[in-house]
Amino acid sequence: MASIALKFHAPLDQEESLSGFMIMHAEIQGIEEQAGDMIYFVAPEEFSEEFEREIEAFAESNDIEYLGHERIEQRDWNAEWEQSITPQRVTEDLVISPSWRMEEAKPLGAKYVVTIDPKMSFGTGHHETTRLCLRAIESLDLKGKRVLDLGTGTGVLAIYVLMRGASSALGVDTDEWSIQNAIENRALNGLAPEQLEIRQGTLELVVAGNERFDVILANIHRNVLVELAPRLREHLVAGGTLVLSGLLVYDVEEVQEAYATAGFQFVRRSDESEWACLMFQS
Ligand code: SAH
Repeated sequence: MASIALKFHAPLDQEESLSGFMIMHAEIQGIEEQAGDMIYFVAPEEFSEEFEREIEAFAESNDIEYLGHERIEQRDWNAEWEQSITPQRVTEDLVISPSWRMEEAKPLGAKYVVTIDPKMSFGTGHHETTRLCLRAIESLDLKGKRVLDLGTGTGVLAIYVLMRGASSALGVDTDEWSIQNAIENRALNGLAPEQLEIRQGTLELVVAGNERFDVILANIHRNVLVELAPRLREHLVAGGTLVLSGLLVYDVEEVQEAYATAGFQFVRRSDESEWACLMFQS
């Protein structure tokens, strides 16, 4: 598939308005940053001399340099993207790999290989919060436990707890893409819907008030975590474990306070760069 590559040099504070302009005016096939220049790729039929004049006028009035366009004959976006997802060694025990790179993952010799084809959802093991949760999971005795994974994304955490002996897991996510992806990843890891159930919606809507879990994992945005503290307490058995991430180190205090107020006992905290993970017991 051919593309027209449009090249710009924009000051940092103008990048957003440039991207707004481009998205409003054409369907963008891809964006690339190259040595400080922004390159937007559009289909040839979307490009015309008139469009280029508009681009020039926009650039001029916004302190952006338009460096011209170039026709590119063949570009396989999908293959390039696939190439960019590599097997991740997360811990001594665990490698996470896309299905198309298993041949590279296997020789790494980890005890567990979780297969994740990420598509548009979050949870490839490349993010600090996912890794913090995966390490927290390794510190738990999961044999025979029932686990809730709130904000399951790719399903990575739920899949790993099942590999480590949990008896069943429930993955919940509000995002339709994530739900589809978690279902695909469940199959890729040879898990049955009875072992890993996936439900789309919020906790209030899709988890009944009387459902109880031995372990709850929630790697979600801080605001959601704070809001859900009392409700999560109700879903956790006495003596159960709660693992939270998705929060920045600056937000730890607020989240810790909300969970103390909801009646959780703080167990421990771990950090990776600016991200934190908190463990509690009920
Ligand atoms: N568990 C994965 C993904 C975490 S990303 C991992 O650890 O890598 C957070 C996920 O939470 C996203 O997929 C997002 O769609 C979902 N999410 C955001 N708000 C939510 C809510 N209120 N209820 C359920 N899921 C939510």
